Amino acid sequence: MKIKSVAAYPLRCALEQPFSYSQKWFKHRTALLVKVVTDEGLYGWGEVFCHDAWPALAALIERVYQPLILGQDPLSREVIWDKLYNWTRDYGQKGLTTAALSGIDIALWDILGKVAGLPVYQLLGGAFRDRVQAYATGMYLTEPAIDDPSVLADEALSYVEQGFKAVKMKVGFGLDRDTVYVHSVREAIGDSTGLMIDANHAYDAATAIALGRALEDCDIGWFEEPVVPEDIEGYCRVRRALDISIAGGEAEFSRYGFRELISRGAVDIVQPDICITGGLSETGKIAVLAQTWHVRCMPHVWGTGVALAAALHLIASLPDQPPSLNPLPKLLEMDRTENPIRENILVEPIQLVEGDALVPQGPGLGIEIDEAVLESFRQS
Ligand code: CA
Repeated sequence: MKIKSVAAYPLRCALEQPFSYSQKWFKHRTALLVKVVTDEGLYGWGEVFCHDAWPALAALIERVYQPLILGQDPLSREVIWDKLYNWTRDYGQKGLTTAALSGIDIALWDILGKVAGLPVYQLLGGAFRDRVQAYATGMYLTEPAIDDPSVLADEALSYVEQGFKAVKMKVGFGLDRDTVYVHSVREAIGDSTGLMIDANHAYDAATAIALGRALEDCDIGWFEEPVVPEDIEGYCRVRRALDISIAGGEAEFSRYGFRELISRGAVDIVQPDICITGGLSETGKIAVLAQTWHVRCMPHVWGTGVALAAALHLIASLPDQPPSLNPLPKLLEMDRTENPIRENILVEPIQLVEGDALVPQGPGLGIEIDEAVLESFRQS
């Protein structure tokens, strides 16, 4: 079997209600899917986490990487990964080159599963669980919420009512606002629902520590991206100062980047994004690295159903850490903000039952793309 084509599908959709996090406002959502087709007619889907960089990513996939792997055996995932990573190594290693590679790698896993007639989790060594507890990511700032934290509290409560056992909200809007917003949400959802916070690296170490202390009475599950990803020393300082678990890694790349984050003791939880850090192949290696250092691994997901399916297969295959009768849950991030692409792109959406996402059981990623919907969002 040979690779016949590698196509990028940039997708875009305007939002009814713009929202912001600590770095910018979103008025539209984007996604970038990758389709690898073989000479036998089999195909696989992958996804790249892209924001607005899709023109550059699509060019990397189709004009730089595609010519390098046309005619190659799609089952030689590691060979292809190494070839593409090494091809751009001198000016790559992180960022767009690794993101583009991720989408191709995920599609190759989908193809392998279809060839074998097995779900990806089976190819990764089998499922420790067939459903994964999901947490709702939301509580971004909208215009109405800026001066009325009850908007955030109501949103959080709606996720609890949908069955989510944990929610994650945005911080990074300034210490005073963050403190009001987080207390408001904690009060609304009560003590039995998990609550995590995410600053998207809006703070320096001293400010992040001050925020953590101001929220000591809020039972915060983890504090995500307190400082910029380059500031590993800052991560360490925040982690030493606070009793809250520190999480990060969605802006880190490959085993080499995670080696620093993990071995220097920067985080309690690593959050590699399968769609930028190097695909399923690389995230599997990062998960092993994390396990070796007794750091929990919970992939970041902010994409469509392709990204969710890839994360579910990987999480299904990761052992409990540490093992116990009642182990700490492996959590799946489920972004609940408005995203018509995510909601409509799969023929059969990812199933949620009592706050758990069910691991797809079909061959490969176990998903099908609705190509008519795909075309309706497609950019050229
Ligand atoms: Ca995040």
